[in-house]
Amino acid sequence: MENEVVSKNFIEQEIDKDLAEGVYDKVCTRFPPEPNGYLHIGHAKSILLNYGLAQKYHGTFNMRFDDTNPTKEKVEFVDSIMEDIRWLGADWEDRLYFASDYFDQMYDCAIRLIEKGKAYVCDLSAEEIRAYRGTLTEAGKDSPYRDRTVEENLRLFEEMRSGAYQDGEKVLRAKIDMASPNINMRDPVIYRVARMSHHRTGDKWRIYPMYDFAHPIEDAIEGITHSICTLEFEDHRPLYDWVVRECEFKNPPRQIEFAKLYLTNVVTGKRYIKKLVEDGIVDGWDDPRLVSIAALRRRGFTPESIKMFIDMCGVSKAQSSVDYAMLEYCIREDLKMKKARMMAVLDPIKLIIDNYPEGETEYLDVPNNLENEALGTRKVPFCRELYIEREDFMEEPPKKYFRLFPGNEVRLMSAYFVKCESFVKDENGNVTEVHCTYDPETKSGSGFSGRKVKGTIHWVAAPYAKKAEIRLYENLVDEEKGVYNKEDGSLNLNPDSLTVLKDCFVEPGFSEAKAYDSFQFVRTGYFCIDAKDSAPDALVFNRIVSLKSSFKLPK
Ligand code: ATP
Ligand code: MG
Repeated sequence: MENEVVSKNFIEQEIDKDLAEGVYDKVCTRFPPEPNGYLHIGHAKSILLNYGLAQKYHGTFNMRFDDTNPTKEKVEFVDSIMEDIRWLGADWEDRLYFASDYFDQMYDCAIRLIEKGKAYVCDLSAEEIRAYRGTLTEAGKDSPYRDRTVEENLRLFEEMRSGAYQDGEKVLRAKIDMASPNINMRDPVIYRVARMSHHRTGDKWRIYPMYDFAHPIEDAIEGITHSICTLEFEDHRPLYDWVVRECEFKNPPRQIEFAKLYLTNVVTGKRYIKKLVEDGIVDGWDDPRLVSIAALRRRGFTPESIKMFIDMCGVSKAQSSVDYAMLEYCIREDLKMKKARMMAVLDPIKLIIDNYPEGETEYLDVPNNLENEALGTRKVPFCRELYIEREDFMEEPPKKYFRLFPGNEVRLMSAYFVKCESFVKDENGNVTEVHCTYDPETKSGSGFSGRKVKGTIHWVAAPYAKKAEIRLYENLVDEEKGVYNKEDGSLNLNPDSLTVLKDCFVEPGFSEAKAYDSFQFVRTGYFCIDAKDSAPDALVFNRIVSLKSSFKLPK
């Protein structure tokens, strides 16, 4: 619509300007992960931002593995990253690239720089290079190798390539300005010797390009227009621009930075997660308490909920941290209308209806979602012996307790009114059975209006219920103390982040449920079939989120 007021984020405003001024005639973006770990919620922001821009401007979106550092990269991660991005819904079609496919072109760029007198081979050690670099307040010192001739540099660089030197013996440096106020411009290293096999190029290369040199070339080769990255690269932008200019790329890309997404009291650092996995504190990179994409998927989050969350976070240049409760809000919103509301008893005790005929079963029509009639109804068996939640009965109730206690009447959800007549305790004083009588006149949907009850509780029919394991999750981190221990930098873990309930009962209708299927369990939250541990005859559910929260939608 022409008159619609659409607020654009600062990146879109920059793109509009570039298109209006004819700097570019279309928009090409990319997501360039390093295959050295699993993707997390922060990466989802970058993926959805880059993909979203390409869609909005009818441009293209490239998937590119930034695999220029063979020390840390693994094929395993390449596969998991692609799976996660597909799941999020970002479609790169046939535009899948690997930075390592450009090693020849990067090498040619380096040769060109040497020929232009813009790069030189330096024999200083890493430590010496650091010492020569100077500080924020002090200019750097020229390397004694800075004035090597073009011929000598070409020869030495060729020797580096052919494997004549050991790691660290020689590097290729850009010749820029050792007195630049920007330390990144003080003759940065652009190639290093690394006698290492690469997961795609094998032993072809004995030298590998540095990130700040490789990345702009990758973007330029692919015809990326807007190279969107996070704020820590802002100070590297002059070097990015220098590389594409000196390598003489036509219509070079431009880098735009935005603030990373952080979640308050949530661990995202690869190093920390690796340790949690290695120490067996979590059950792998996809443990449902983590915020890797694989973990969120296993927990039961949907791509739609993550997209809603990322949209709500917005795009900005100001660093901030978002509350996990906002992510929970988004998944509740997404599942609320879509999912069937089933009955499951997490902490069961028996309820026996003494006046219900023994051996009889009736099948009640239960609506799947009262807020969404389109989801229809299901048949749920009802009989004399049921399970209810232990907390729905009290021998001596406090004021305003409207559930079961001796003499009180409640509604069994979608079924009948029952009145508590008596109860049985074991030798330890624990209640084991609650005995009731039911009133056949009060059947749900029968239009009964004789009297009202204040409490409604859920139930499952004991002989038909399926036993299930249910896992409840809390924050992995102790929120009072914060993520990191101030003294030694270790994580402040919450010892109660996982509760496993092994004796739960769910309705019989779950026999068809598959991995990742999710449901609302009335009164207790949204749950998802665990993809790793659940089996048709031994169901395992993860609680995605409880039903209520104190979270307020930001204005
Ligand atoms: P981490 O250190 O958390 O593993 P990374 O930056 O090392 O992240 P890369 O594989 O290099 O991981 O990142 C791929 C892309 O994702 C980069 O463009 C990076 O800027 C972006 N990205 C990484 N973390 C976040 C975040 N928290 N929020 C938004 N974008 C991010
Ligand atoms: Mg990185």
